Amino acid sequence: MIDIQSIEKINLDFSRCVHCGLCLSACKTEALGHDFEKRILFREELCIGCHLCIEICPRGAISSFRLNSN
Ligand code: SF4
Ligand code: SF4
Repeated sequence: MIDIQSIEKINLDFSRCVHCGLCLSACKTEALGHDFEKRILFREELCIGCHLCIEICPRGAISSFRLNSN
């Protein structure tokens, strides 16, 4: 049975990020963006947990975890 109370989210390790922008290109929901200093911004409410950003990141800077909404 699917646990609908459990939501998958991503976590960014900024110490690994080299600002290549590949994850932004991969994200179809615009959950990932840039701030003025070219740091990656994550808009959690737009993330659908598709993992495309995790798969494309050459630095292993993005990981996923399950957030229990209870
Ligand atoms: S998991 Fe998918 S929707 Fe969420 S930030 Fe990554 S590419 Fe975007
Ligand atoms: S793909 Fe990885 S290294 Fe490139 S900007 Fe995104 S988090 Fe940073």
